[in-house]
Amino acid sequence: MMLEGSCHCGAVRFRLRSRHPYPFNLCYCSICRKTSGGGGFAINLGGEQASLEIDGREHLRVYRAKLRDDAGRELEESPAERSFCGRCGSHLWLWDPRWPELVHPLAAAIDTALPVPPERTHLMLASKAPWVEPAIGPRDRQFAGYPEESIAAWHERLGLVSDAP
Ligand SMILES: [Zn+2]
Ligand SMILES: [Zn+2]
Repeated sequence: MMLEGSCHCGAVRFRLRSRHPYPFNLCYCSICRKTSGGGGFAINLGGEQASLEIDGREHLRVYRAKLRDDAGRELEESPAERSFCGRCGSHLWLWDPRWPELVHPLAAAIDTALPVPPERTHLMLASKAPWVEPAIGPRDRQFAGYPEESIAAWHERLGLVSDAP
């Protein structure tokens, strides 16, 4: 399906094609929590980088997260590029050169009505903030780190791949 998204101030608008549009993947890691997680987590969708069209590209700012060890020591910069609106700060999408054909818009930046997931995946729970009490549904899956199952594989397992234009 086609997804339309925008930042809060409207300086950046974008659209892309997504076969994996269900907002099921809740990440509680410190990067997601700090950069976009008002509830202690952020939700990435799966989309096709080649289809991404951007209005207001000049307003974009890119952040590459510093990865740290458990003692807080800086290790390296993440190769993943997180794009934000430089005017209002909305986190818009993540692109990773290790998987260049994919782009992961933040569900919160999407204006198109997204489908409601029948079950959700809670990941990076070992990194969640102490005050966050995840709302775990009866069919939800929980992971201390990253699950084996990709965003695409989740949609395939549940028969929810979207081939609508
Ligand atoms: Zn903005
Ligand atoms: Zn995360």
